[in-house]
Amino acid sequence: MTNFDYDLFVIGGGSGGVRAARMSAGYGAKVGLAEEYRYGGTCVIRGCVPKKLLVYASSFSEMFEDSRGYGWSEVRPTFDWSKMHGQKEAEITRLEGIYKANLERAGVEIFHTRATVTSPHSVKLADGAEFAAKHILIATGGTPFVPEIEGADLAITSNEIFDIDQLPERAMVVGGGYIASEFAGILNGMGVKVTQVYRRDPILRGFDEDIRTHVQDAMRGRGVEILTREDVDRIAGKPGALTVHLTSGSSRQVGLVLYATGRVPNTGGLGLEEAGVRLTGNGAVQVDDWSQSSIPSIYAVGDVTDRLALTPVAIREGAAFAETVFNATPTKPDHSMVATAVFTQPEIGTVGLTEDQARAEGEIEVYRSAFRPMLNILAGRDEKMLMKLIADKETDRVRGVHIVGHGAGEMIQMAAIAVKMGATKADFDRTVAVHPTAAEELVTMKEPVA
Ligand code: FAD
Ligand code: NDP
Repeated sequence: MTNFDYDLFVIGGGSGGVRAARMSAGYGAKVGLAEEYRYGGTCVIRGCVPKKLLVYASSFSEMFEDSRGYGWSEVRPTFDWSKMHGQKEAEITRLEGIYKANLERAGVEIFHTRATVTSPHSVKLADGAEFAAKHILIATGGTPFVPEIEGADLAITSNEIFDIDQLPERAMVVGGGYIASEFAGILNGMGVKVTQVYRRDPILRGFDEDIRTHVQDAMRGRGVEILTREDVDRIAGKPGALTVHLTSGSSRQVGLVLYATGRVPNTGGLGLEEAGVRLTGNGAVQVDDWSQSSIPSIYAVGDVTDRLALTPVAIREGAAFAETVFNATPTKPDHSMVATAVFTQPEIGTVGLTEDQARAEGEIEVYRSAFRPMLNILAGRDEKMLMKLIADKETDRVRGVHIVGHGAGEMIQMAAIAVKMGATKADFDRTVAVHPTAAEELVTMKEPVA
């Protein structure tokens, strides 16, 4: 019988890898884990967490403005990026320490270095040390993708934006997805003049059409210049003073260009194909419902599998892996009805099918309400909130809930429980409203609009 150094060796100390390592160790496995950058991974170090802190930071400008309608005298606040950067750094360093300590407490042996796969049962660290492992878990996440255009090296990605020295006066954000739209709002709220460039119209392809249009209009209303059906042709100049030439022929002078044109699985140079692991066309590890790759001893979870690139999903996949392999409880991660929030300003919360997707599956009833939330009235803000419920006409089951506005992310988490349980529109209707809230609109929409 082969003697293994580890029952499990995890490559990647982010959301998925850490959860899988800790749980597997808890089930008695001898676990090793290698992380080449910072414990906590993308979400903690340069994703969800610092992003949300910046969303909070940027949204104070709106609150200062709105406060005047509520009797506060005008304030002329200034924003200090370097102070906020220090605050952010302190917090993610604290969280990084907690991630590392939790791994150690669980008995996981950690290696702060790069690791690659050398065979179905072995991994090698950057210093040359090689270990035999009964199982290997690939949890290496993803990395930003930037298309090949002239001057692309003058642009930055989400990897760098969190640590820039100072805020530019003007910035361009390229892309129309989660990251581009969130950062357009963050920078705008911090006083930067932002141009967002997106090759289609409206932004946020994949979301419900009403949500896309509503958010795009609202972001424009807040001062973001959104250029749709537009793309970057080339970038010229030097860092801090850039000219972006657009495909339409126009150009913009900006201090910073942020490319947020998607992410690709982090499998380059990992040794996977050499070990016989099948990758998909875009380099993701191809896995079955239990996250097992084409090589039985090698599994993969999280963004590197290109399923749903969200932290809670990576965590669930890591947990399901540990249940399956080390607790004799075969468990498939459940990717259905996963709620998500986009921290645009205004914010989006969504779960289930879009109107178009639901309509393609059968007859539906659509309930929609666009209204000025109470907060905006005295503030003198015209922006409306949007709520949309999509119900199956035959069964009355709610197939989708979509919200745009203050607190949408918080609301959708609650709505998602009901939708996941199979709630019908009638269940929503017989739930008594909480008054006065914006969320009460979810249970008071009476007449279908389509
Ligand atoms: P990661 O967290 O990326 O972890 C992979 C780790 O592997 C990294 O730490 C990396 O350094 C390490 N690694 C890679 N290769 C090696 C190697 N060879 N050896 C050793 N270590 C290696 N999701 C949400 O749910 N909500 C949000 O609000 C949200 N906001 C985001 C904002 C931004 C800007 C970005 C970029 C992402 C955001 N996400 C958000 C997505 C979320 O961060 C990812 O889905 C999640 O981090 C995936 O976890 P993971 O474990 O698959 O990979
Ligand atoms: P997305 O896939 O969300 O968006 C990528 C955007 O870039 C799309 O608008 C796409 O356009 C555009 N694009 C792609 N290729 C090109 C190209 N060659 N030229 C011009 N435009 C291009 O990726 P992100 O990078 O924004 O985020 C990655 C993932 O991370 C998200 O999908 C999400 O899963 C996760 N994330 C989650 C967050 C959250 O939960 N709040 C926040 C941030 C990230 P098109 O629509 O035409 O394809």
